[in-house]
Parts: sequence; C-alpha cells; structure tokens
Amino acid sequence: MAYVFENCANLWVMTEVIVLNKAAIERAVSVLANSNNTVVVTGAGISTEAGIPDFRGEKGIYRTLGEDRVMQIINIDAFRRQPEVFWEFYRKYFDFPPVEPSHAHKMLARMEQKGRVSAVVTQNIDGLHDKAGSKKVIAVHGTADRFVCTGSRCRACYESEYVRDYPQTVPRCSECGSTLKPDVVLFGEPIQNYMDARQQIMDARVLVVIGSSLTVYPLAGFVKEFSTFYQDMIIINKGPTAMDHAALVKIEVEKSTGEILEEIDRQLDRFK
Ligand code: NAD
Ligand code: ZN
Repeated sequence: MAYVFENCANLWVMTEVIVLNKAAIERAVSVLANSNNTVVVTGAGISTEAGIPDFRGEKGIYRTLGEDRVMQIINIDAFRRQPEVFWEFYRKYFDFPPVEPSHAHKMLARMEQKGRVSAVVTQNIDGLHDKAGSKKVIAVHGTADRFVCTGSRCRACYESEYVRDYPQTVPRCSECGSTLKPDVVLFGEPIQNYMDARQQIMDARVLVVIGSSLTVYPLAGFVKEFSTFYQDMIIINKGPTAMDHAALVKIEVEKSTGEILEEIDRQLDRFK
C-alpha cells in the first residue's frame, strides 16, 4: 500500500515502510544533520537485498547447517589440517553469485559523495561497497574474490576465475605449488585493518550500524566501546541486535534498508 503526501510543490510517494518508521527516521535525520563525522558499520544484512543471504537469517547457513559445523570447517586449523574438506565446503557454500550492489550500498556511496558519510567499516567480504562507489571502505574480514598463496616466500594473488576453473578441488599456486587460501578472515585468524577500523569508529561523531546482529567480534566490541563513551548511535536492522538498548535511534527494517536510507538522505537535503 502506498501513501501519497503533498508538500508545497513537491509530491512524492511514501511507502508503508517509511510511514511505519516515520518518527525514528526523523529522529535519525536530526542527529545526522548535526554530525560532521558519520561512520557506518555494515554487516551481512546490507547485502541480503543484493541477493547474498546472511548467515543468521532464515536462509543462512547457520540455520540450515548449524553454527558449530560452519565454525568447525571455516577455521584456520581446519584449513591447514584438511584443505580438501575446507575447499569442498567453501566451494559449495561460499562461492557468491556475481551480484550487483543493492540500493542500500548505492545510497551509502551517494551519501559519502555528498559528505554525509566519512567511512564504511564492513564485516562483509563481498566487495559490494567498493562496487557501489564508496571510496573509504575498511573491510575487516577481507575479500572473497581474491585468493592468496600460502607459500611462505611466495604470496602470489589470484582472481576468482583461476580458482573457479582450477581442475581440482584444492587450488594450487602456479608458481610454487602451495595451497591457495581465500583472502578472507577465517575463524581463529585476526581481523584485517584492526587499528584503522577501531580508530574510525572511536573518532565518529555519529555511528550508524546497518544489517549487523552485533554479535561478531571484535567489530561488535568496537561498537560497544563507542557506545559506552558516546551516545549517538543509530541502528538500522531487520530484527534485534545485541546493542539495541544502547542506540539513540533504532530503525526496524520491515522491507528495504535502501528505501530507508533514501528517505534519510532526502530529508537531509532540507538541512543544506
Ligand atoms: P551479522 O551478524 O552481520 O547479521 C546480519 C543481520 O542483518 C541480522 O540481524 C539480520 O536479521 C539482519 N538483516 C537481514 N536482512 C536485512 C536487511 N535487508 N536490512 C537490514 N538488516 C537485515 O551477519 P551474519 O549473517 O551473522 O554473518 C556473520 C559474518 O559472516 C558477517 O559479519 C560477515 O563477516 C560474514 N558474512 C558475509 C556476507 C557477505 O559478505 N555478504 C554474507 C554472510 C556472512
Ligand atoms: Zn605460490
């Protein structure tokens, strides 16, 4: 159902989604309008609208396979001990389809261009923020479309095509023959860009968390640390997060995060 509003010369269509969140969106807009450094933290939820399922959602592999099983295989010890098992599982469940960024990814890039977003710190490994045009992106869990040689003196890098077309389950380096590893952070490995990610978050005037359950550490820890020192945190998520109680504004996503961001951006235009 669509609601139509008239505002001076402007006529626009507001969907039910926006109407349901009207008060929370207006509150978020007034907080963001006063911010000179807005940092956005994103999780798997921002990419579901692009067609990549999250882990914890209805179709996610934590639900279908069980979190323990996933963790047992997608960890650095399992990769070293049993590369065949790891790679068989990885090829089956982690070979993301080639998708385009969602409306939400594009809105964040647009808001960065307008000076409304300073940086995106993401747990995602799909590269969709970069693809959407965001310039300052800190990816703490690496990137799924790059593969690195594990040979100690080699460190050659490969693209997805090389791995996809490799004739055996375990892809090997063409230079030294060592096993290749996806350039993503496996359970048991330290995150990438630790200091940079923490600093960006702690320096934020306003922190906006989008599509994250805020249960994956250490990034969730940085958000927690921010929220104990500062007040201005906005959470946009489908369902509850571990830090809803600490947010100044929580926007519950019923349908589309992209639509919510578009509405926030449109309302911010009035503060120019
Ligand atoms: P998570 O902890 O970031 O949780 C995702 C959250 O997003 C859930 O609370 C879910 O209800 C919410 N959500 C789902 N659809 C949404 C929407 N349209 N708008 C707003 N919120 C929405 O992530 P996870 O699924 O528990 O995965 C754990 C980790 O695994 C991630 O942090 C990431 O590193 C990795 N992962 C990455 C991708 C990706 O790169 N696209 C996908 C799956 C998992
Ligand atoms: Zn090599």
